[in-house]
Amino acid sequence: MFGAVIYAPGDVRYEEREDPTILEPTDALVRTVAACVCGSDLWRYRGIAPVPEPTPIGHEFCGVVTAVGDLVKTVRPGDFVVGGFNPSDGTCPVCRKGAHANCQHGSHYDGAQAEQIRIPLADGTLVATPTMPDDDLIPSILTLSDVMCTGWHAAVSAGVGPGKSVAVVGDGAVGLCGVLAAVQLGAETVIAMSRHEARQKVARAFGATHVVAERDEAGIAAIRALTDGIGADCVLECVGTEEARLQALGCVRDGGNVGLVGVPHGDLPVNDLFWRNVGIKGGPAHCRAYLPELLDLVLARTINPGLVFDLQLPLAEVAEAYAAMDERRAIKSLLRP
Ligand SMILES: [Zn+2]
Repeated sequence: MFGAVIYAPGDVRYEEREDPTILEPTDALVRTVAACVCGSDLWRYRGIAPVPEPTPIGHEFCGVVTAVGDLVKTVRPGDFVVGGFNPSDGTCPVCRKGAHANCQHGSHYDGAQAEQIRIPLADGTLVATPTMPDDDLIPSILTLSDVMCTGWHAAVSAGVGPGKSVAVVGDGAVGLCGVLAAVQLGAETVIAMSRHEARQKVARAFGATHVVAERDEAGIAAIRALTDGIGADCVLECVGTEEARLQALGCVRDGGNVGLVGVPHGDLPVNDLFWRNVGIKGGPAHCRAYLPELLDLVLARTINPGLVFDLQLPLAEVAEAYAAMDERRAIKSLLRP
């Protein structure tokens, strides 16, 4: 089979790789129907994270099960499935509390930008659709393997609920999904912070009530102007840079909450959080905990997170999918074998 391999920053190749096989009785093999490039894949592509050796890459996918190990009970060959980027067993004490991202037996896979994928812990990771989904739903289902679950996690972590005011820092696919999550969870005011017209448009399509293009102090002032002068009840930080976190802290009201899903780089001013009674929660998304509900919303066409994909390419053109996102010509690239 063929799949993507990252060799060095800026160097992703589509090449022949060994077919995956069942290694553990809890594994499933999936024939990829769609995969995509994640903002976090770009860390290696941009040389921010190291690439010590040629490495299969990608962790977002949906597809059809082709084989299962002897212990797999919940999915069968022929099922259409989606799974989160962070495999979980679903049975350990941590998973039973709903914190699947921190599964005691959790693992990680890379290499999903490929024709076939081996999924560990299939029962606790994959969710099958009741029937083969319509083709136009594939992009939205694909977002459930990471970005939509991550945006949802930001909103849940920030305590978004009916009547709340929410500001979203970051207009990448995760931030946009955070807007959609906040709207779906009943927030009254949802402010997307974005300077890019195409992304503003998606944010509005997802239900953002306001768009703020300013950043830094001007951005904080604009958020306060929309929130009785005090800042938002909930802020979703969907970038991960120190700058973005300081922006989030500036935009949240005293006593409010910040949901963090951008992988942290740099520092966090804990003293400031303390005196302002600001809560911080977040981390990698508990995908498997959110998947059933979000899959139902997608299949019912209540939400359409697939709008974050503004570029679709054959899997063989994976190098261009990376380049387009790196050069900000695309919000997010979808790949089909
Ligand atoms: Zn577990």
